[in-house]
Amino acid sequence: MDISEIRKFEEAAKIGKKALELALSLIEPGAYFYDVAEKTEALILENGGKPAFPLNLSVDSDAAHYTPYTGDKTKFATGQLVKVDIGAQIDGYPSDNAATIEVGNTGKHSDLIDASRNALNNAIRNLRPTMKVGQIGAHISKTITSYGFKPIRNLGGHGISRYDLHSRIFIPNYDDGNGRTLEKDSVIAIEPFASTGTGMIHNGPGGNIYILSGTTKRDEVIMKNFSTLPFAERWLSKVENNGQEYLKQMMKKKEVSQFPILREHRGVFISQAEHTILVRGDEIRVLTS
Ligand code: MN
Ligand code: MN
Repeated sequence: MDISEIRKFEEAAKIGKKALELALSLIEPGAYFYDVAEKTEALILENGGKPAFPLNLSVDSDAAHYTPYTGDKTKFATGQLVKVDIGAQIDGYPSDNAATIEVGNTGKHSDLIDASRNALNNAIRNLRPTMKVGQIGAHISKTITSYGFKPIRNLGGHGISRYDLHSRIFIPNYDDGNGRTLEKDSVIAIEPFASTGTGMIHNGPGGNIYILSGTTKRDEVIMKNFSTLPFAERWLSKVENNGQEYLKQMMKKKEVSQFPILREHRGVFISQAEHTILVRGDEIRVLTS
């Protein structure tokens, strides 16, 4: 990684952090998911970046991968536990950060919110450039279980590369025994999820987030506008008539796939926290704080 690449990661992280703060400030009882997403992504563009992926707004037992669609009339309601996950990209270099809030701040889920946030903080505080990824997971799991919750075991952090949001390495949220070490010169995301349920998510229905999946022929419209990063139906519908239908056809041809919502069973509550981190030589630096 040269200095110009690091600068781009830094800038993407700075804008992504701003976007997360804006989204958190806009979420209140009666606000529309659609408006929060559009305003948050607009702020990224106004700051000279592009969204690295659509704003994820995942409620209660949903852990990730819901973004509003064109015409979405969903509103926030008091007491909902919302995972807000967003990143920016500069020239394809992405950032990724997330936080959890309770709509209307009734304080019902404060411990659950603290559990993932402190798991992230403890993992970062104990992070060393030569660390085994299983050991990072151990710090996360220890913190979350100390609150009486479970870490989600089939979600975790990841490497981040140019035009690739989930690259090279998986960073578990518990000690899975993986002895792989972090790459010396890399950008990673660490993202603990704390759950009141079993700590295993499954695939739900599609959450309106898509990605190019074809290897033979890549759709020109999608490639030109979103490249190989995830995108929203909302975005496509601004550059293409009838984006919904366009995506349906692309999915039929298996050139595009839709991310399923990742969730636990109804009645479970899940919190998440995430930062993008630079690991370089002896240096560990949180880029999104
Ligand atoms: Mn994320
Ligand atoms: Mn992530």
